[in-house]
Amino acid sequence: MHYVSHGTPGGEYTSQCRAAIVTGVPEGALPEADFEPAKERDSDTVVLDLAVLNPSGMFFNRCPQSEGVHTGGTWHWPERV
Ligand SMILES: [Zn+2]
Repeated sequence: MHYVSHGTPGGEYTSQCRAAIVTGVPEGALPEADFEPAKERDSDTVVLDLAVLNPSGMFFNRCPQSEGVHTGGTWHWPERV
């Protein structure tokens, strides 16, 4: 999966996709559909604990999923090439 890095406010660096590994699924973060009959909800957002692989190092973060808009600090499934 991909983690989206934060760009700098001044625009020196833009948000970029980084490879990430799932290290954990926070309790209560699974989609509700897994536990009860599907019902109305805002989105399918899944929060995951990730290990993000940067060229300069590795860090750990808890991130929400954002597929449509690649906001800094969120994760998404890798784009099809
Ligand atoms: Zn990506």
